[in-house]
Amino acid sequence: MSAVVKLANVHKSFGPLKVLDGVSFEVGRGEVVALIGQSGSGKSTALRCINALETIEEGAIEVCGHAIHAPTLDKRALRLSVGIVFQSYNLFPHLTALQNIMLAPTCVKGITRKEAREIAMDCLTRVGLAEKAEHYPEQLSGGQQQRVAIARSLAMQPQVMLFDEVTSALDPQLTSEVLKVMEDLARGGMTMILVTHEMGFARRVAGTVIYMRQGRVWETLPGRDLDNPRTPELRDFVGSGL
Ligand code: ADP
Ligand code: MG
Repeated sequence: MSAVVKLANVHKSFGPLKVLDGVSFEVGRGEVVALIGQSGSGKSTALRCINALETIEEGAIEVCGHAIHAPTLDKRALRLSVGIVFQSYNLFPHLTALQNIMLAPTCVKGITRKEAREIAMDCLTRVGLAEKAEHYPEQLSGGQQQRVAIARSLAMQPQVMLFDEVTSALDPQLTSEVLKVMEDLARGGMTMILVTHEMGFARRVAGTVIYMRQGRVWETLPGRDLDNPRTPELRDFVGSGL
């Protein structure tokens, strides 16, 4: 079966700075891949390239059958297939949780408000926040706002979800409630690529962990083997508790 996401020898620079230096990996349907590595190793850039938020100089990226590097790329169709959640949730403050989630399905996909409401309620239920539907963002905790942001992505019914350090701004208790939602999604068969510093979560949930270093895939291993790295660099990284 073909991969949902495939990077082959991807190179990306910002001016003189080489950020991705020949990155290759594949993610199959229903697979969960965690990208880990020191700050500056190119993890966010890799995610941004997958969603065509950055252009690449060399190599190829394919996502849900879309060739990202092709001049004919239909970015709109691509972004309907890919959900992305960042550290900052960026909910609209003047809209309720439900309205935030309904916005893209009605405006971008053009489905009816009734249908969008049903999908939004379903997604809020999946993140455990059905009872907060009528709350505004300022009435929600950071963890709850992040879960609304995840529900907002889910409402577009993406084929793959990208998460970039979505718990980094949260305290430990709120972090665990967001990780729980992500774990449920993974168990439900969602294809996911996540950048995380939560090693316990990567070990438990990620089928594959990719350790990036200096813009390269330095080591790839099953999540359950994260305690037994092959390379001294990953051993140091895991040992440092980062
Ligand atoms: P990570 O997510 O692993 O911390 P990033 O992919 O964000 O790493 O960044 C990798 C390197 O690229 C860093 O040195 C960062 O400063 C640089 N970088 C990222 N985005 C840009 C940009 N838009 N312009 C210039 N440099 C950038
Ligand atoms: Mg980053």
